[in-house]
Amino acid sequence: MLKTAQQYVDSLRALKIRAYIDGERADGVVDHPLVAPHVNAVAKTYELAHVPEHREIMTATSHLTGETVHRYTHIFQGPDDLVKKIRMLRLLGQETGTCFQRCVGLDALNAVYAITFEIDRSEGSDYHQRFVRYLRDVQKRDLMLAGAMTDPKGHRARSPIEQTDPDQFVRVVERRPDGVVIRGAKLHNTGGINAHEVLVMPGTSLKPDEKDYAIACAVPADAEGVIFIFGRQSNDGRKFEGGCDIGNPRFGVVGGEAMVVFDDVFVPNERIFMAGETAFCGTLVNYFATWHRANYGGCKGGNADLLIGATAKMTRILGTDRNAVVRDKLVEMIHMNETTYASAVGASAMGYRLPCGSCMVDPMMANTVKQNITRNVYEIGRLSHDLAGGFLATMPGQKAFENPEIGQFVRKYHTANPEFDVMERVRIGRYIENVTSVTTMVEAMHGAGSPQAQRLAMMGLSAIDEKIRMLERVIDADDAVRDVC
Ligand code: SF4
Ligand code: FE
Repeated sequence: MLKTAQQYVDSLRALKIRAYIDGERADGVVDHPLVAPHVNAVAKTYELAHVPEHREIMTATSHLTGETVHRYTHIFQGPDDLVKKIRMLRLLGQETGTCFQRCVGLDALNAVYAITFEIDRSEGSDYHQRFVRYLRDVQKRDLMLAGAMTDPKGHRARSPIEQTDPDQFVRVVERRPDGVVIRGAKLHNTGGINAHEVLVMPGTSLKPDEKDYAIACAVPADAEGVIFIFGRQSNDGRKFEGGCDIGNPRFGVVGGEAMVVFDDVFVPNERIFMAGETAFCGTLVNYFATWHRANYGGCKGGNADLLIGATAKMTRILGTDRNAVVRDKLVEMIHMNETTYASAVGASAMGYRLPCGSCMVDPMMANTVKQNITRNVYEIGRLSHDLAGGFLATMPGQKAFENPEIGQFVRKYHTANPEFDVMERVRIGRYIENVTSVTTMVEAMHGAGSPQAQRLAMMGLSAIDEKIRMLERVIDADDAVRDVC
């Protein structure tokens, strides 16, 4: 079943989650001013699946049932699915101008699907069929999942069992005949507070004596012992005010991130997909991260389309739009954006088959996408600031424009090209200010892994020796002499 946007919102309301927002216990999250924009962004993913012109990329045919499911619950069957995913992300990025959060759960579903197959093949366990039963339910109910991978990690130079506090990585603290009890926390959970379920995965490679930390499982968002602590974002207070100072009032500037605490949460056997198989943790993390790294060429591409649009509009408002240097800077923004999008499509088109039958993106290209995103999002933002001007940082708030005593002055002295209403300049300025905030930038830097993680992966995949051999084959002296002779 494909949920409608309204059904998604209603289903969230029905959950009795324990959430803390701005340090206070929240009765409900759906209508909370700090969370509502993020709910709206996810609701858009549900809404577009019902729009005929978008159905091809927003939905897919389940390989399990043959039924139409949301692409956000689908297992990638080939490069075509991966390319459609990137197209879906660009579309949603354009429709929301922000992070729509469901991709983490999608990539987690695919990673756990793949790894359970490989564990069973090696160990003779039955995790995969168990996971397939869970996946059928996710597809049937069109659930929004929050993938949860990042542990707090404590002392970064120490492994899980070397920590002073053993809870710095999510772990099993009790084993029962009918399940396990887990304790710990996962950080930076995109969409955690407005998801139906949390799909927990280990966040690092583990050694054989770290079995308690090798836990992958699905936990309902309102399970006993699950606590969501919502993060703060730049300009949060403005969300309580309404008006144009918010920037992107309907969808927010980035995904809503939460810390999820597992305060001794019981997980029944049917929801456990790995428990102790340390040898597979590194591969699981790698699968998840590689898929997610390619995504950024899609979602950030869509977001940047709006930022480029806002910047171009601002140059018209300022009367600088015909200046050749200004136009060239816009081209530079477009060039960077299309480069990462092209890499994401390329990584998808070059996807290869995993042992379970699903499709993995080309890892080198996927890591390159994310590495470029850690730079290009900043650079596109820098050029936007450059073209939009210093008033981004100094303009008065909406209330000043509405004040009967000073409104006339701030309107008069912020009017640029008189063809445009001054409030249009302010509204677009606020949009640019908000979507290039530290929250957005840091997400682009660290989401799907920090830049050094991509560089490590790229070095591992680089086949430097093979490149040297290629060179030697080309310039081999004996061959060259023979060719001349
Ligand atoms: Fe999806 Fe992009 Fe948000 Fe990640 S950052 S969840 S890929 S929209
Ligand atoms: Fe992200």
